[in-house]
Amino acid sequence: MKKLCFLIMTSIMMLCLSFSHLCMAATQEKVLRVATEPSFAPFEFQEEGSGEFTGFDMELIRAVGKQAGYKVVISNMGFDALIPALKAKNIDLAIAGMTITEERKQQVLFSDPYYTSGLIIMTRKDNDSIKSIKDLEGKVVAAQIGTSGEKKARSIKNAKIVSFNTNSEASMEVVNKGADASINDAPVVGYYLVQGGDKTCKTVGEKMEAEEYGMAMRIDNIQLQKDINKALAEIKANGEYDKIYKKWFGEEANATAKAQAQKQATGLSFMIDILPLLLQGAGITIEVSALSVFFGLLIGLAVAIARLSGCKPLSILAACYVDFIRGTPLLVQIFLVYFALPNIIGHRVDPFFAAISACSVNSGAYVAEIFRGGIQSIDRGQMEAGRSLGLTWWQTMKFIIIPQAFKRIIPPMGNEFIAMLKDSSLVSVIGFEELTRRGQLIIARTYASFEVWLAVAFVYLIMTFAVSRLVGIMEKRMKTE
Ligand code: GLN
Repeated sequence: MKKLCFLIMTSIMMLCLSFSHLCMAATQEKVLRVATEPSFAPFEFQEEGSGEFTGFDMELIRAVGKQAGYKVVISNMGFDALIPALKAKNIDLAIAGMTITEERKQQVLFSDPYYTSGLIIMTRKDNDSIKSIKDLEGKVVAAQIGTSGEKKARSIKNAKIVSFNTNSEASMEVVNKGADASINDAPVVGYYLVQGGDKTCKTVGEKMEAEEYGMAMRIDNIQLQKDINKALAEIKANGEYDKIYKKWFGEEANATAKAQAQKQATGLSFMIDILPLLLQGAGITIEVSALSVFFGLLIGLAVAIARLSGCKPLSILAACYVDFIRGTPLLVQIFLVYFALPNIIGHRVDPFFAAISACSVNSGAYVAEIFRGGIQSIDRGQMEAGRSLGLTWWQTMKFIIIPQAFKRIIPPMGNEFIAMLKDSSLVSVIGFEELTRRGQLIIARTYASFEVWLAVAFVYLIMTFAVSRLVGIMEKRMKTE
């Protein structure tokens, strides 16, 4: 009875936790759901300490949103996910130093241009063989996925292109000699060099043809485009745009960036400095994993019972589910729920719902197999004994088989939870700032990849160690019970 109460209470708590996220999203009015890719300093990056998104684009969209009477809510995702997220109605506007191109104009509406940029080549200081784009023929060129820089790189004859999720990773590939050069937006490369990248790297040649940045909106959202263009024109006229521009690109901007870079701690003290931000990310990792494994447990139990029920259609259905889920990567399942499902249901999908449902359904398939193994490991004679005592199949399952199976599945369930703690990093693609993404965003600002990944690994290790200890304790208690 006690156990049943505990299970019901836990279920209610988990459901409340899940629904509180959905309700929070539903109660806000006239909200402008903005997404960005915050590894693009000085346009968008995460502020030191607070973890807030800052930069030219961020201040601009907050000012434009306010002027147009919207409450701006900013989330983050990969650059290549921004347009799909707009199309799936998951966000209203994307601002990420996005170049207005003819191809993109087929997919989304753009605001009036708000910044003029252009691409530039960056290479190592000790490389004298690269002086222009022609010299990149046959070379290894790094770029960020889905960007105009990547497109330019792909147009170079015989060049080998290596694509990365963030532009800071592409820059670091050049530093680490994995690539001969990178092609990226000139202001971002300039910022990187000012922040200390100039110790190893330099730009070569002139800025290529001019590119204009625009804010992207859904192709049918003409009203929003009007509102945004009107507000943009107004803040240009009242001097607010100039103020923001000066702050990020004026004479003092470079000095501020340099001073910030010099102020930055290194080694162990830097790792300690970033720990609070990483721990916040770890909180999200634990929340996503715990909810997913919990719902996965319920799904898994139901599927295992269906599979062993002896009812042919049910057991075929359960087997198909397990095969489909185990046969496709979790990342694809997340994409299916977040980007493809809205096309079918005609409504946006909340990212929290997408993350938890994709991970739970994924975990459910593995847990179903764990349960099946657990149930089948119980001696067949016990079922026969139960039945001959007058119990039904379900009563024997519930009172005799499942309680024993539960004890046996504790170690593999621990493994499942540990696997989910690590796999949950995939939800970062739809905007979750869990532990791995936090690390990525800190690197985008500091370029200190060694310290950051070491600290991230350490936090994961503490979490997984705690889970395996917990599982060990539970196992011991179950044995003595
Ligand atoms: N301006 C480039 C593009 O639109 C790069 C943008 C980015 O990486 N955030 O493709």
